[in-house]
Amino acid sequence: MIPKKSVNVDSAEELICTSRFGSFFGVPQPVFDRVWQALSSPESRPVAYVSMEIGADPDIFHPVQDFLRVQGGAKSENPACLRQIEKYLRGPRKIPNYSGGLGVLAGDTLKSFADLHMPVFAVSLLYREGYFSQLVDSRVGQIDQATQWNPENTPSLFRLEDPDKPGEPLELTVPFFNEYDHPTEAKAHVWMKMEISEELDYFVPEFLLDYSIPSSPPWVREAGLRLYSSKSDIMKANQRRMLGSGVLPLAERLGLTFGTIHLNEQHGVTVTLHLILRQLEKTLGPNCRSCMSDKDILAAADEAAKRIVYTIHTPVKAGHDRFARSLYTGISHATGCRILDLLANDPESPHEYNFTAFAMRVNRAVNSVSRLHRDVTRKQFPEFADKIRAVTNGVHHLTWISEARARIFDNTDELLGWRDDPGIFGEARLEEDPAFPGRLKQAWEEDNRVLVAYVNRMLSEHRALAETTWIDPPNYLSHLKQGEGSLLSPGVFTIGFARRFSTYKRADLIFEDIPALADILLQNNWRVNFLFAGKAHPQDEPGKSVLKLILDNQEELYRRSKGLARLIFIPGYDMKIAKMMVSGVHTWLNSPKRPLEASGTSGMKAAMNGVPNLSVMDGWWVEGYHEGQTGWKFGYEGPIRHDSLSEDPATLLYGEDSRSFYELLPKVLELFYARPDEYLKLAVNNLRLNVPIFNTHRMAAEYVRKYELRLAPETEARVLGFARLYKSDSCDWTNPQAQQA
Ligand SMILES: *Cc1c(COP(=O)(O)O)cnc(C)c1O
Repeated sequence: MIPKKSVNVDSAEELICTSRFGSFFGVPQPVFDRVWQALSSPESRPVAYVSMEIGADPDIFHPVQDFLRVQGGAKSENPACLRQIEKYLRGPRKIPNYSGGLGVLAGDTLKSFADLHMPVFAVSLLYREGYFSQLVDSRVGQIDQATQWNPENTPSLFRLEDPDKPGEPLELTVPFFNEYDHPTEAKAHVWMKMEISEELDYFVPEFLLDYSIPSSPPWVREAGLRLYSSKSDIMKANQRRMLGSGVLPLAERLGLTFGTIHLNEQHGVTVTLHLILRQLEKTLGPNCRSCMSDKDILAAADEAAKRIVYTIHTPVKAGHDRFARSLYTGISHATGCRILDLLANDPESPHEYNFTAFAMRVNRAVNSVSRLHRDVTRKQFPEFADKIRAVTNGVHHLTWISEARARIFDNTDELLGWRDDPGIFGEARLEEDPAFPGRLKQAWEEDNRVLVAYVNRMLSEHRALAETTWIDPPNYLSHLKQGEGSLLSPGVFTIGFARRFSTYKRADLIFEDIPALADILLQNNWRVNFLFAGKAHPQDEPGKSVLKLILDNQEELYRRSKGLARLIFIPGYDMKIAKMMVSGVHTWLNSPKRPLEASGTSGMKAAMNGVPNLSVMDGWWVEGYHEGQTGWKFGYEGPIRHDSLSEDPATLLYGEDSRSFYELLPKVLELFYARPDEYLKLAVNNLRLNVPIFNTHRMAAEYVRKYELRLAPETEARVLGFARLYKSDSCDWTNPQAQQA
């Protein structure tokens, strides 16, 4: 059994907790009461974290399940407790409420808030059809289907009950206008996902609003079914409103309070509209709508701004919501539109409301997600340049470090306390422990074998399907006859790439010149596996074409390299596959067009496991790259130019950046195959240089400084310790000494 942190709980029964809103399972009653009390008391100035998506699948981070395993499994006299235990040990462990990096970041952030004992609650939606489930057919490409899942039997998710009608679900009312300008009421059930600390002594609740219930109007039910469903603009606009306009009614109904609203992207920004309206009612009285002036609105917005912290996550246009004014006048009352006229107007596009502009205007702090992204955002929004700051993203180290690696870290004296404090990796003198590199190597090999076995099992299953059905599986290797050449072998240099398929991420960049790529391998007899995964938004036709191109390249690459290169596509990318990939590959590839990858987080997950990155100088890598120590860089890294922000295919620099990759690749392969000990040093250096910085404990600590929370002294001390690990917003960031200051 893995020596995890000690937990101050004796039996599973202790984890049952109840409140006016039902009974839950995961933390002892006193913990539950303490957290709820903090979230309901204005003195603690809690944070409401609002995000369209939250990715926190319980299959890859599960403190409660670990505890139950240590306890020896399903033992309890109490039938209710036994049901919960069964759910945790056997239940489905996916909560498909995320599409990619934004959601996973939200989940990782909330886990760190729980570890740091922060008074935070999150608000998001519950999507009955998830984002989508991905099937991949080698002729058709990506096929999307509704995700089948059942929140009722998913561990760590609980539907709140109505305190006045025990046993009945709590039904939240969210006032709306419909497209005929008629007042109407949306109804939502409220689910609580508990993000529980490793020691089971704290939690951060995430409230997921489920609007797809019979008492909601049909247009609301439909808009709530799938994350980012965009069958029509009005559906998209409504989905955003269902998030933002639900925040205040939710907090009031649950008796929770907040000092700060953190908008994780602008999707939920209609909450700002409601804060402004409330402020107007407070200052001008209930009839404010008929007497308010523009000046009154701006003054109310200034008041609302004091409570809002906003994080912008991308310079890519598609990430910023704009809606036609004509559409919005149909679904919002006249006062709402007057506020938007003043605050969401966009001189470049006068017929639209620009919700990024709205979020930019009304807040007390704007954050970008890396230093380079800060500079790009300042260029994009020069009006707000002064207030745009950097808080570089991180990942939750306890979630993303593989079990095999964690076991090594637990057994290394120099790393004592790493679970509590990822900063330990920066101080540990790992190079002085002669046994450490060897043990790390063993763990890496183990993770590589697990990944290769997963892929081989998939290929064999697909081969069987191809032989017995009309399904045309996505991989060329499963079309080959079983035997030599149709599977992968462990120990072969493996490059991983997995993320959303957006055109700016250029998944196909390194296959721009397959003959050149094949030549590099043939000349040296180097074998390489390329493992790719990721989803394209169902309406993103160019993104889907890139995915199809990956499939189409497989055969040519295999043939030209005489089987040395094997390109695999793994369908159904999710957090579990991500964790297996980032720890099982030998390098993590990131090939976006600079500077469109604002941060990127999958590379940080690789770094947490010591896996070196092979990346364009974009997003976090500008900060995480140390020459000769943590990995490699390639591609254009000059200044931001007039067409740098364009996604037009002609501006995507395929020629230039792929040539740069082909120049670099032989050096990487030579190191791996000819000097494995030096390759291993890269891993140790990643642990030392990047784990202390690119983790969400450090990131959370930087955000906590912006939240103006009042913290208990011991929590304050811990937070300060993490904040000292790094200063994302340091000005002199080209100077590595300043970075460490
Ligand atoms: C980490 C993660 C992402 C984000 O990857 P990027 O490199 O930031 O694009 C997307 N999807 C899943 C499932 C992830 O785990």
